[in-house]
Amino acid sequence: MKAHHGMYIGGEWRPAAGVDTIEVVNPVDEQVIGRVPAGTAADVGHAVRAARAALPGWAATPPTERAAKLAALRDVLVARKDEIAETVTAELGSPLPFSQAVHAGVPILVAGSYAELAATYAFEEKVGNSTVYHEPVGVVGAITPWNYPLHQIVAKVAPALAAGCTVVLKPAEDTPLTAQLFAEAVAEADLPAGVFNLVTGLGPVAGQALAEHPDVDLVSFTGSTAVGRRIGATAGAAVKRVALELGGKSANVILPSADLAKAVNVGVANVMSNSGQTCSAWTRMLVHTSQYEEAVGLAAAAATKYGDRIGPVVSAKQRSRVRSYIEKGIAEGARLVVGGPESPREQGYFISPTVFADVTPDMTIAQEEIFGPVLSIIRYEDEEEAVRIANGTVYGLAGAVWAAEEAEAVAFARRLDTGQVDINGGRFNPLAPFGGYKQSGVGRELGSHGLTEYLQTKSLQF
Ligand code: NAD
Repeated sequence: MKAHHGMYIGGEWRPAAGVDTIEVVNPVDEQVIGRVPAGTAADVGHAVRAARAALPGWAATPPTERAAKLAALRDVLVARKDEIAETVTAELGSPLPFSQAVHAGVPILVAGSYAELAATYAFEEKVGNSTVYHEPVGVVGAITPWNYPLHQIVAKVAPALAAGCTVVLKPAEDTPLTAQLFAEAVAEADLPAGVFNLVTGLGPVAGQALAEHPDVDLVSFTGSTAVGRRIGATAGAAVKRVALELGGKSANVILPSADLAKAVNVGVANVMSNSGQTCSAWTRMLVHTSQYEEAVGLAAAAATKYGDRIGPVVSAKQRSRVRSYIEKGIAEGARLVVGGPESPREQGYFISPTVFADVTPDMTIAQEEIFGPVLSIIRYEDEEEAVRIANGTVYGLAGAVWAAEEAEAVAFARRLDTGQVDINGGRFNPLAPFGGYKQSGVGRELGSHGLTEYLQTKSLQF
């Protein structure tokens, strides 16, 4: 795999300040496929200076011109779709068709949506005797996770650039090659030097330096709740804007009137795709007691079918984390229906699709985010109990409700403390706001709501 040995700063690849590197490992065969520089506070400092220097020019660029640059960036992503998919597959391990359709496909949609929004958004409005200007917040520090390597980058960088902000990105250490490819795309799309800068490195070093940098105006972070909490505290102390997209433990609520087989099959696919490494995955399936055993049988069959089609998890560390949750599920008395902690293959960070039945709402596997291909099926007696269980975690990122009539599902969904609910298998909408209630985060990404995260208002009274 191609890897750059420097940082993309001020429109060029520059040598890193230090000599340390990070190995990038293919999770399928555990081979090292590349090395990228491990950035330090000095690299972050250079990148923030470049972003600051580029800010006045980019902020003053008419939104239609910013839109044209974003459209050019989208076109480069389209032209390099296969290379993106192959890179994500090499460093994340996801099967190539999934990388093509989702890991490469969704960022193209999102970049395109912001090219359109930049051109059409009302950056100026009249409110009574005032003119209100929606101005860029400034220099953005973006910190992203590995689970959807390019989507997480584009979901921050595209709206930030559309708003007129400039960006320093610190991508996840497990998937830096995709981030380097994105930097190449930025260069190819001819964005002005310094509007986008990339510093690869470790979270507690480069990530922390970026989050703490006094000349960063807004920190946008996606990752674990533990790290998000620290970043929120740092930003709070510095009185700067922060957006946090954190973990989830979403419920897939199957009401008794629903098409059970469809709800279970879609629910299992939702959890197993990307090897369970989706923050919005519906990892708790809630089934009425009258249909419980039938649902368990259907879920077991669906998960078994997934078998060989599933990719590995991203790293050895992630695999041991997922395994220890599976062991905890067994130890706490859940019924292991398929899968388990043993490795299905000799090589690679694989985990078998795993389904637990007889999971009670207070068990660890029903409360904590596993981030692996593990489904917990929970029984409920009536609708009130289903609401209580669904809302009974610290998270509130996503969810699903299934019922014969849409109105019944909608009425239930309105009672959920969560940021997104798919009704009867509703499709992903790249324009709908995405983000969490409770400890799933602060702020929203995607669409016009995602754009406003990067804007601040100035009111002029007449
Ligand atoms: P993580 O929090 O360990 O890392 C995320 C990013 O933060 C990485 O770039 C990492 O290098 C950086 N980081 C780590 N420590 C840091 C520190 N002290 N200061 C600054 N930056 C630091 O999470 P992860 O293991 O990479 O990702 C998995 C987690 O991300 C899961 O909990 C998942 O739910 C969450 N996630 C949430 C969403 C969402 O949209 N809500 C999307 C994807 C992933």
